[in-house]
Amino acid sequence: MRKHRPAGKVLLYHAVSDDRDFPSSSGTNLTPAQFERQVLFLKQNYSVVRLGSGENSSGKPPLAVTFDDGYRDSFENAYPILKRYNLPATFFLTVSRVGEDWDFPRGDYPGLTWDQVREMERDPLVDFGSHGLTHADLTAKTEGEAAREIEISKTILEEKLTRPIYYFSYPHGSYNGQLKALARRAGYRAAYSVISGGEDDFSRRRTLISRKDNFFRFRLKLSPLYWPLRRII
Ligand SMILES: [Zn+2]
Repeated sequence: MRKHRPAGKVLLYHAVSDDRDFPSSSGTNLTPAQFERQVLFLKQNYSVVRLGSGENSSGKPPLAVTFDDGYRDSFENAYPILKRYNLPATFFLTVSRVGEDWDFPRGDYPGLTWDQVREMERDPLVDFGSHGLTHADLTAKTEGEAAREIEISKTILEEKLTRPIYYFSYPHGSYNGQLKALARRAGYRAAYSVISGGEDDFSRRRTLISRKDNFFRFRLKLSPLYWPLRRII
């Protein structure tokens, strides 16, 4: 079994869309132009590796790209840009939203379809992980409910797709010791949070990139100085 070998920084994206009316108020959507500029910078300055591969012979710092939620724009906007530059990425899917709309307070937003997911999976640069069944905060669920979200989402993805699902991403980045144990028991190799993450395999930290990150701030977020400084910048 291929071991999880974390390497370098892991970036977290959500939506890549020109739609100014992206109905989530989270500010996590980037325009395609903003995303492409970042991808080009990553291509030039980093060794962008598959999540957990740990393979890096280029001499450049390793880095992995991930997406949470599974919006349709992952297929329509983000994936074509990543493909243009030949960069790998992992997409964490909220299983009950595949083929459905996301229901945000300010309106609906389309999720990926299974056909789109399967088409992306044929590309060896694309990996999928589980982001749970319903996007519920699992720290607020009973142990049984949380176990179901973590285990059944993996089972469904593995039934629908051809490759094993090795990674889990905690909805809302929320986790605790119990969830870490459930993810381990379900057979994942690692689980990812956001800024609150630690440095063990079931609470891996990621750097959230949002629409508000202009290019200067994006580069700053990639810097090793970012974590110690982030509370004051
Ligand atoms: Zn999410």
